[in-house]
Amino acid sequence: MTRHVDVLIIGAGLSGIGTACHLTREQTGRTYAILERRENIGGTWDLFKYPGIRSDSDMLTFGFGFRPWIGTKVLADGAAIRDYVEDTAKEYGVTDHITFGRKVVTADFDRGTARWTVRAVVEATGETETWTANFVVGASGYYDYDKGYQPDFPGQEDFGGQIVHPQHWPEDLDYAGKKVAVIGSGATAITLIPSMADTAAHVTMLQRSPTWIQALPSDDPVAIGFKKSRVPDAVAYRIGRARNIALQRASFQLSRTNPALAKKLMLAQVRLQLGKKVDLRHFTPSYNPWDQRLCVVPNGDLFKVLKSGKADIVTDRIAKFTEKGILTESGQELEADIIVTATGLNVQMLGGITLTIDGTPVKFNETVAYKSVLYSDIPNFLMIIGYTNASWTLKADLAAAYLCRVLNIMRDRGYTTFEVHANPEDIADESLMGGALTSGYIQRGNDAMPRQGARGAWKLVNNYYRDRTLMHKAPIEDGVLRFSKTVTTVQPGERSVGA
Ligand SMILES: Cc1cc2nc3c(=O)[nH]c(=O)nc-3n(C[C@H](O)[C@H](O)[C@H](O)COP(=O)(O)OP(=O)(O)OC[C@H]3O[C@@H](n4cnc5c(N)ncnc54)[C@H](O)[C@@H]3O)c2cc1C
Repeated sequence: MTRHVDVLIIGAGLSGIGTACHLTREQTGRTYAILERRENIGGTWDLFKYPGIRSDSDMLTFGFGFRPWIGTKVLADGAAIRDYVEDTAKEYGVTDHITFGRKVVTADFDRGTARWTVRAVVEATGETETWTANFVVGASGYYDYDKGYQPDFPGQEDFGGQIVHPQHWPEDLDYAGKKVAVIGSGATAITLIPSMADTAAHVTMLQRSPTWIQALPSDDPVAIGFKKSRVPDAVAYRIGRARNIALQRASFQLSRTNPALAKKLMLAQVRLQLGKKVDLRHFTPSYNPWDQRLCVVPNGDLFKVLKSGKADIVTDRIAKFTEKGILTESGQELEADIIVTATGLNVQMLGGITLTIDGTPVKFNETVAYKSVLYSDIPNFLMIIGYTNASWTLKADLAAAYLCRVLNIMRDRGYTTFEVHANPEDIADESLMGGALTSGYIQRGNDAMPRQGARGAWKLVNNYYRDRTLMHKAPIEDGVLRFSKTVTTVQPGERSVGA
């Protein structure tokens, strides 16, 4: 039996759930279903289980625009984010539209019928299911869920202790009284160090190069003030969110227009936190703030454990793993019972799905993103990739709202197909997530990702204000996004679901 829906969403993380809510809120009248590989809602926030897992975006911008985040904590822990996404799904009646345990493997668009045929493997049984849909939304995130990125370290097999990757954290890992070395300097490493330091005998953070780190208050004083004054949640959320979008944008802009000043300010606040106890070289990257995502630490928790001596930081390269730990290139041996490789993610587009059009494979990395959500020559398809220099959700919300505008125009005018086509001069060299940031995972994933556009609405600017105008206000029928009509009929043996 083939099941049919108007819109098939792949992934029940923040982006997939948000899209489904928008389809309801914006009264598109479209049926939809979500296919989710895991058994739970939440995506990233269901997968990662390492100690201290939390957002590094403030929750007022990381929350959905249409549903206030009510807490006063600036950053939230992983479980709270997962609950928020799950509660949002319940509130909008989305949960019943999700089929769990389905790994989508192929999606083929038939131009004759203007329909996608999507095949998904039921991972528990190995059976394959077929779905058809008029539109497909890729909300499958940007990395490989099966395997985190871990370089091959020389001598790895000689190490007598345990090696753990944060993406595959053993929930029963006992690190009490043990010496832990954490390799990495990104958001995960700086979250892990203070979270493990109280229980472990000692934690060493081994970084190849430093990262810009900013201390934030753990609680938002303005949000607390609003709560005390009984300002309605929705109003407080709107104000706080507008403030944080502006502050974030200002911080990014400052580092682009006056990197020297941005560096000075960043270093001053680190110095204030650390005093003279820790060498500032460990916190002085060679790149400018926001060339890579800024790391944030609530109430300076990382700085506190470094000052206390429960943790330390080593900036050096790894020569090899030894039986007892890690030998660095400068000859220092770091003893460890557990080595945590916080070395990042493997970028993967569309959850590894093979896309074809009329049976011909799509070279996804050769497509060009239009308004950073539609892709050249792939009809009736949208993929959500959030901001890298701001909260992911800000962009995911805009993308979903834009999709609804497109769908509503199509409904009103009887169109069945939308498509964009890029001319050579529209295409830029950089990948979809490149440009704004030079982080390792973005560079490693460069060849797998679609290209950015070079001009007009093709150009990726990573600017919420511009994107809001482009997605919410600019005319849908702009001469680039083209529509057409095809007569479709329900196929024999096909059942419509997800009303
Ligand atoms: C540890 C960590 C912390 C982060 N912190 C932040 C932060 O603070 N701020 C920020 O802006 N961003 C952050 N990010 C980026 C983060 O991934 C996004 O913010 C957001 O959670 C992405 O949501 P998503 O729904 O697009 O993708 P995901 O959360 O990755 O969800 C994708 C879903 O699709 C499913 N899926 C994938 N492939 C298939 C398939 N073939 N078939 C069926 N289902 C499939 C997955 O199982 C998953 O449930 C973080 C990422 C990580 C890894």
